[in-house]
Amino acid sequence: MKILLTGAAGFIGMHTALQLLARGDVVVGVDNLNDYYDVNLKRARLAQLTPHDNFRFIQLDIADRATMETLFATEKFQRVINLAAQPGVRYSLKNPHAYIQSNIVGLTNVLEGCRHNQVEHLVYASSSSVYGANTHMPFSVHDNVDHPVSLYAATKKASEMMAHSYSHLYNLPTTGLRFFTVYGPWGRPDMSPSLFAGAILRGEPIDVFNQGKMQRDFTYIDDIVEGVVRILDRVATPDPHFDTNAPDPGTSYAPYRVYNIGNHEPVELMTFIETIERAAGRQAVKNFLPMQAGDVVATYADVADLKRDVGFEPSTPLAEGIEKFVAWYRGYYHRSA
Ligand code: NAD
Repeated sequence: MKILLTGAAGFIGMHTALQLLARGDVVVGVDNLNDYYDVNLKRARLAQLTPHDNFRFIQLDIADRATMETLFATEKFQRVINLAAQPGVRYSLKNPHAYIQSNIVGLTNVLEGCRHNQVEHLVYASSSSVYGANTHMPFSVHDNVDHPVSLYAATKKASEMMAHSYSHLYNLPTTGLRFFTVYGPWGRPDMSPSLFAGAILRGEPIDVFNQGKMQRDFTYIDDIVEGVVRILDRVATPDPHFDTNAPDPGTSYAPYRVYNIGNHEPVELMTFIETIERAAGRQAVKNFLPMQAGDVVATYADVADLKRDVGFEPSTPLAEGIEKFVAWYRGYYHRSA
């Protein structure tokens, strides 16, 4: 299969590309290599991909309409995975426009490209953050979740609604994946696993919000990639009786799906920190701070739908995943120091 993968230099993008290449797919990876975090890490991830014959990298911004139109028209992709986005809840408080550009304008270009070039299936990144202040556990895609508490979450909720409209209007198969806090080797330096591991290994204090009582459904990268690839392969079947003009009172007839993809086993932040301490062989120095605006108390994925439809079963225990993550962190940052 010929696949467009946006955000290829990103954390989830690099791992997804490696998996697709390993099974023989042709992958065109795009990324704008922005400096939201260390560009050297993005380049180092790309260096894992470029030796593969079936991989090609194009540096571009998915928010650039003309470039995206040319890309789709000339390459004729069969399937598309859209992971390029401006991530981060806290950063969205100070930099709202970056989110609109990449997550809304960029996704519009991707949707248009898919629509006009007969793409068989678009898989795109949503986020557990769409659940906002939802307290019904575990989080289910069948919950009513239209109350995001950060602009980042709002753009992810909007992504799902935009995809729905394209599925509905043009019979375009789309699948949104609500990722739950992903960790592992090559992880994002702005996320808590890297911030904690780095500070603990250097003997520096870590910021612990809300007494470490917040719970997160930390999910290991290999489990995430397994789910993404299984979903990519299972194209939602367009309804043969599909009628664009039919009323859509909540039940869509369009080939539109959204799934949670998480570990289904939330842990308290304090437990997570202790697991890193064990793997690192050092104690954390903790700086306790109040809860941050835009943060949520807990995340917990109901993955029953994903299990039913593609047999998704997260299989990496936290201690094992953290062990691999800390080993990578030590090696990578030691080498580049
Ligand atoms: P990442 O930042 O490592 O990867 C995203 C990549 O997209 C980056 O390399 C960035 O340079 C690129 N990018 C951003 N805007 C772009 C644009 N306009 N044009 C081209 N490239 C652009 O993030 P990640 O952790 O790999 O996340 C991938 C996706 O999953 C994102 O959509 C993110 O919102 C979503 N997500 C991630 C997590 C997580 O825990 N990592 C959780 C929920 C949702």
